[in-house]
Amino acid sequence: MKKDDCIFCRIANGEIPSRTIYEDTDFRVILDNGPATRGHALVLPKEHYENLFAMPEDKAAQAMKVARAAASQLVDKLHADGLNLVQNNGTAAGQTVQHFHIHLIPRYENDGQHILWSPSSPTDKELDETLRSITG
Ligand code: AMP
Ligand code: ZN
Repeated sequence: MKKDDCIFCRIANGEIPSRTIYEDTDFRVILDNGPATRGHALVLPKEHYENLFAMPEDKAAQAMKVARAAASQLVDKLHADGLNLVQNNGTAAGQTVQHFHIHLIPRYENDGQHILWSPSSPTDKELDETLRSITG
């Protein structure tokens, strides 16, 4: 279902113009208008899902298929040196638009972006406790 007050629903369904690099019946891939790097793009489902967990499994699989094809096109055409896939769920994780999307961020040597996290140094006991919390 499309949500009328959702900007990504309106973009994905063509009600608001966007710089579209790919479209099919279920998805649209657009250029991000505040790009981290040249060619930063977003994979948007045309139906409204707030995040990954709200999406049916087959739709999530389809999104990854679209992301892979578009990512490959970006790397080829823009001669990128690498590419990050980023997908934020929840405001704590940096999600600002509450409609599922996958970021495709082409990377260039020395592009000055810092998309990676800072590693921490937990003890073995702490790691074991985390494992138990997840699998127990
Ligand atoms: P996130 O923080 O993962 O929710 O990412 C939202 C992304 O959407 C940001 O990278 C924004 O630059 C991008 N964005 C927001 N509004 C638009 C828009 N109208 N057209 C293209 N990209 C947008
Ligand atoms: Zn939406």
